[in-house]
Amino acid sequence: MKMKITILGVRGSIPVEGADFLEFGGATSCVLAEADSRAVFLDAGSGLMHAPDTGELPVSVLLTHSHMDHIMGIPLSALFLSKRKIDIFLRTRNGMTAQEQLSRLMCPPLWPVGLDVYPSEPVFHDPEFPFMLGNIKVSGMEANHPGGSTIYRLDHAGKSLVYATDHEHTEEKQKELAAFAKDADLLLYDAQYTEEEYARMNGYGHSTAAEGLKLLEESGAKKLMFVHHDPRHTDAMLRGMEKELDNEHVLYARAGDVIEL
Ligand SMILES: [Zn+2]
Ligand SMILES: [Zn+2]
Repeated sequence: MKMKITILGVRGSIPVEGADFLEFGGATSCVLAEADSRAVFLDAGSGLMHAPDTGELPVSVLLTHSHMDHIMGIPLSALFLSKRKIDIFLRTRNGMTAQEQLSRLMCPPLWPVGLDVYPSEPVFHDPEFPFMLGNIKVSGMEANHPGGSTIYRLDHAGKSLVYATDHEHTEEKQKELAAFAKDADLLLYDAQYTEEEYARMNGYGHSTAAEGLKLLEESGAKKLMFVHHDPRHTDAMLRGMEKELDNEHVLYARAGDVIEL
């Protein structure tokens, strides 16, 4: 096994709960990649609350952007409440550094205390791509999303993961993304909207399953999983859409899924 991917949260925009959301899960964006004796979290939405104990492994958190649904797991996660160094990667946006962006949420009166009083020791990085985390190569490209977002690619020992969430397709961007995701073993792609919804939500910074399928074809990626499920999409809807695709290599991600590459 070269890379183990655990899906911890796949809901977009805001967490949901209740009987209609048990199968796919209601927690927001968070994916754990384990490789090279390291734990690499992609986003820190409320799914971070479900993170397994990764023991003494060095921990990095790659944040796509600081929209609330991608950072709301930080304040109460066991990870940040433990005494350890955590490398946090987040691009400067709106002229604000990673630390300044996170301090917006974790600062009175929105939250009682700042990250600086937590036992963990975050080290903030404004990433320049590509860079290495041990033997894992981390690449990034800019998504098409209001306020910006980063699409990440992890390569380790011949296996690769692309995490493309909070991204709205454009012809030009899809070409760039197809090259970026070339031959990836697993492609996670934002398919928040149905075609009908997209017609109304054009410009909101999210994509569709149809665009994901095109990208799968153009990139040569081996497996595609949709993420950032719309908070209004119930288990029945998601299951129905997945069934229609009828492709064992194309699935809607469920919180708790583990993929070994
Ligand atoms: Zn989001
Ligand atoms: Zn966003």
